[in-house]
Amino acid sequence: NYSFDVLIIGAGPTGLACGIEAQRAGFRVAMIDKGCLVNSLFHYPANMTFFTTPELLEIGDIPFPSANQKPTRHEALEYYRKVAEHYKLDIRQYERVEQITGGDGDFRLRTQNLHGKQFDYTAKKLILATGYYDLPNLLNIPGENLNKVLHYYREPHPFFDLDVIVVGGKNSAAIAALELWRHGARVTMVHRGPGIHSHVKYWIKPDIENRIKAGEVKAYFNTEIKDIGPECVTLVTPDGELRVHNDYVFALTGYHPDFSFLEAIGIEFAGKDHRPITDAQSLESNVKGVYLAGVIVAGMRTNEIFIENGRFHGRQIAEHLKQVLH
Ligand code: FAD
Repeated sequence: NYSFDVLIIGAGPTGLACGIEAQRAGFRVAMIDKGCLVNSLFHYPANMTFFTTPELLEIGDIPFPSANQKPTRHEALEYYRKVAEHYKLDIRQYERVEQITGGDGDFRLRTQNLHGKQFDYTAKKLILATGYYDLPNLLNIPGENLNKVLHYYREPHPFFDLDVIVVGGKNSAAIAALELWRHGARVTMVHRGPGIHSHVKYWIKPDIENRIKAGEVKAYFNTEIKDIGPECVTLVTPDGELRVHNDYVFALTGYHPDFSFLEAIGIEFAGKDHRPITDAQSLESNVKGVYLAGVIVAGMRTNEIFIENGRFHGRQIAEHLKQVLH
């Protein structure tokens, strides 16, 4: 049974920033992650480049050196690992937090590792920084459960000379469509909106739009998928139904936080965006002693908080912890 002042669930950029700040404030702290260190970043597209310049991804006042204007996923993995080493953070990898009981001053957590072994922890305060990348927004159509339907895009090579549909019209969909096309896949984009989304980065948007204009990437806008079969997909286009041959479908329609995990602890939500109730300054939730950090603070508005701004949550929470825990 391990005992800490503060336990942080999630070792993403935000969880790490929280760990550093709480440790600097003098508390005994550990981070628990069901995957590896910065597990979400590890699972991003293998060759991805961040949208952000490196200094905006920095945590713990450690500089992020990069030869590029925008760092790559590989560089970010190196960076966060070095930061974790530098601060000698206590990170329990490959342990999923399964149950949280108790209350302020005496929380009890049970975790389970990949081999089914259970561990028990107690903590005076909890910080939840569980992100949003584990639960894809589903299409909810017949055939979505087939193995050929993927909600995460990794790399293009396996899709050479295949008919691939990319569902979605935002950054992830545009980037995947371009990379797949450049590596020999026959790509069709399907998006329910009227065109590539206006939020797509200014250096990606003209690239994908020009590929579409040239007919190199096919695109159906104002279109939804009705069903997915082993060899074909039915599209509902403005001109009627269309059946197209298909090998793989990438449904890149976003992700959302695990609301039921938060609900089970007693966290309440407000508004149509399902924002968890938190104090704007301390980030303490409606459950005393439980703080929220990172992208989960924004509920369904997952594009509102990212590394750039979520990395400051650690300092806000640590300031409050110093007042209530010393
Ligand atoms: P995460 O990084 O998702 O970390 C949450 C962690 O919690 C994970 O490691 C997960 O394994 C763990 N976890 C979840 N549930 C449990 C549990 N029950 N038990 C134990 N552990 C658990 N942002 C930028 O600022 N700039 C960019 O350029 C940028 N580019 C992006 C590109 C892509 C392709 C994507 C998908 C996102 C991008 N973002 C970018 C967004 C950014 O990556 C996220 O907002 C950020 O990762 C959120 O950090 P977080 O620490 O809140 O959550």
